Amino acid sequence: MTDPLVSRMRAFGTTIFAEMSALAVRTGSINLGQGFPDTDGPAAMLDHASEAIAAGANQYPPGPGVLDLRQAVVEHRSAHYGLRYDADGEVLVTVGATEAIAAAVLALCEPGEEVVAFEPYYDSYAASIALAGARLTAVTLRPAQGRFTFDPDELRAAITPRTRAILVNSPHNPTGTVFTREELAVIAELCLERDLVAITDEVYEHLTFDGVEHIPLATFPGMRERTVMISSAGKTFSVTGWKTGWVCAPREYVAAVQTVKQFLTFTASAPWQVAVAYGLRHELEWVAALRASLEDKRDRLMDGLRAAGFSVYRPQGTYFVQTDIRPLGFADGLELTRRLPELAGVVAIPTQVFYDHPERGAHFVRFAFCKRDEVIDEAVARLKRLSR
Ligand SMILES: *Cc1c(COP(=O)(O)O)cnc(C)c1O
Repeated sequence: MTDPLVSRMRAFGTTIFAEMSALAVRTGSINLGQGFPDTDGPAAMLDHASEAIAAGANQYPPGPGVLDLRQAVVEHRSAHYGLRYDADGEVLVTVGATEAIAAAVLALCEPGEEVVAFEPYYDSYAASIALAGARLTAVTLRPAQGRFTFDPDELRAAITPRTRAILVNSPHNPTGTVFTREELAVIAELCLERDLVAITDEVYEHLTFDGVEHIPLATFPGMRERTVMISSAGKTFSVTGWKTGWVCAPREYVAAVQTVKQFLTFTASAPWQVAVAYGLRHELEWVAALRASLEDKRDRLMDGLRAAGFSVYRPQGTYFVQTDIRPLGFADGLELTRRLPELAGVVAIPTQVFYDHPERGAHFVRFAFCKRDEVIDEAVARLKRLSR
């Protein structure tokens, strides 16, 4: 039978996460592949979700989302970043950041237009861009002084008259880079000069380490007017299964994104929205404690990976450590991660799957540290078999 899947989606078969998570289950391996926490979000916020159901928050919320959540988002943006949005028309609640990204790309990019993104990139970007019939231009992040960054000249050269948007993910999955003020200034300048829309994926906004601060691109002069800022409760509150995200942008952009979003899902689930509004107002201390605990876990995993023989990059944010496998005598991360369950009883993600130029990331493997300490310790103990 010929493949019934439309041609523009054929390159996107099963994701590496499905393959590797299935491998973890089949082999009884420790899964440091997919980035989801193995502990729960703040108890009072979870209670608010149950209470919302009991209290009848079970029918369609308004298309833009529950008003109380939109207001909580506005208060949060203002308190943290000094960014002012109107809850009525400049905030849209989505089914996670994933839907927000897809709806933004589908709403803003014509077929044949180009979207610039930094590789390695979060896998949904390429799929959303392909669904829109647009084209992804990847600018490669490369290690320099221990962190991944881009060459401003390469970024400038990637922008053509057909470029419509730039997708910016900071804190960056999978490299752990948090873009500096200088790096963001380069991006902002190009957006203004070349009249681009910035779509920013800020789902790890609160999960930064070593005192490094996340700076939204929208805070740069002239950028609030051209930035579609995307965030989500999943990573902030360790509730990745809630799939509750939001877009903040000028009115015309939110209206455009909502026009697409209303025919993807119409609206996001009600009870989570009620609970996330509570979380944004009352659980940021819990989030600060999460950040501190993740920083410890990062150090724990980094130390262990180094002891096991990996060369390790120090992430400034996110859930992930990026490693170079060459010191262990391996060259291809895909080959190593497919054999890792048998070699060491651990599952990880080959970073090369997040590139348009896989050879540039062939020797990198990503490990997640958003796991209980005993899980990290056991994984590290097992990985030491590699260097024996
Ligand atoms: C997890 C993640 C998302 C998806 O967020 P959801 O709210 O679960 O849809 C988007 N972007 C990046 C970089 C992520 O790591």
